[in-house]
Amino acid sequence: MGARHFDADLAAGRRLMERLDAFAAFTEEPGRLTRVFLSDAHRRAAHAFIGWCAEAGLEASIDAAGNVVARYEGRRAGAPALMLGSHIDTVRDAGRYDGNYGALAALAVLESLSARGERLDHAIEIVAFGDEEGVRFRTTLTGSRALAGTYPKAALDQKDAGGVAMRDALKAFGGDPERAHAIRRDNVAAFVEAHIEQGPLLEAEGLPLGIVSAINGATRLEVGLDGVAGHSGATPMRLRRDALTAAAEMALAIEARARGEADLVATVGRFDVWPGAANVIPGHVQFSLDVRAPDDARRVAALTDLKEGIEAVARSRGVSVSLAKTHEANAFVCDPRIIDGLSQAVEAVGVAPRILPSGAGHDTMVIGGLCPAGMLFVRCKGGVSHSPLESITFEDCAIGLAALTRFVRDFRIF
Ligand SMILES: [Zn+2]
Repeated sequence: MGARHFDADLAAGRRLMERLDAFAAFTEEPGRLTRVFLSDAHRRAAHAFIGWCAEAGLEASIDAAGNVVARYEGRRAGAPALMLGSHIDTVRDAGRYDGNYGALAALAVLESLSARGERLDHAIEIVAFGDEEGVRFRTTLTGSRALAGTYPKAALDQKDAGGVAMRDALKAFGGDPERAHAIRRDNVAAFVEAHIEQGPLLEAEGLPLGIVSAINGATRLEVGLDGVAGHSGATPMRLRRDALTAAAEMALAIEARARGEADLVATVGRFDVWPGAANVIPGHVQFSLDVRAPDDARRVAALTDLKEGIEAVARSRGVSVSLAKTHEANAFVCDPRIIDGLSQAVEAVGVAPRILPSGAGHDTMVIGGLCPAGMLFVRCKGGVSHSPLESITFEDCAIGLAALTRFVRDFRIF
């Protein structure tokens, strides 16, 4: 790939890789990695993170919302901070790099500066967010929302499957539910999150790193179709109003529309069929439609086309259709100055800058409401995440850390 590797970068990458392995031991379930928000495993992981900060001479703590935070002062006390970080909670049976890579890479950047006694014009703050995956409570991103000043207080009343309220779990973890809404940060100049790509694009193009242009906006619809159920033997083909074949034709039309446009993705991920018997023509089908794009206007235009396409199929097949929106989030556009800075840092470590959208959501889109924000992606094997098969190479781990370190040292307050 023509990347220039330096011995020091490789050594730092090796340490980060070893630490990611060690960090994976903080799990609720033996033999697989599960570390949901505010669990005992999350608490142990947070304290290990705080311990590693202390070894590097940094004072870290758990904030009111359950984030681990630490600050490395600049040349002058109270200087605006460049904030780095990602999340350390995981899905069930997770991989060890999603989130953890960015949190531990942020710590590694501070360790190298601290070891050299190097101070920059800006301070650096690192954050290990707690609540990104949204597995335990019906909430997500409450850690980053707290720092951005948009904490959803009602989330504290959410209960997990065992009946434990988030308020009580947060208190036991070392947070402060009464203050979580009141810790909006000021004096933050910018935020950067390093993260595995969770998609196959960098691998397909033979590139170890990418710079995120935008985090996709998403709309989710629930589509219901009513045809007429009937006996599979006694109803001639030309007299049928089969809800399942109509839904199948819609799914193909949805795929064709999305294929026609770069960076637009549309997915029918769930099909429920009634009555669901081998000898009955399906009378009712319910399916999900998930549409994402890095540009809100293009997503809205695509949705209009998709709805028209669905209605046209319904008319031609004599079935009735209903559409209900169940989720909508606008795209987050990364700050162009951060995109430029990351591009220069990536180029400086010998990699051609590739700018790409993020299909998945991240804490960055929340912190982006507080300050300019952006993301650095590291290639992952097969684009796989949320699985123990999640994998990155040691070389990519090292070059990602080298690019992030470069960005931090070259950063100038906007
Ligand atoms: Zn993640």
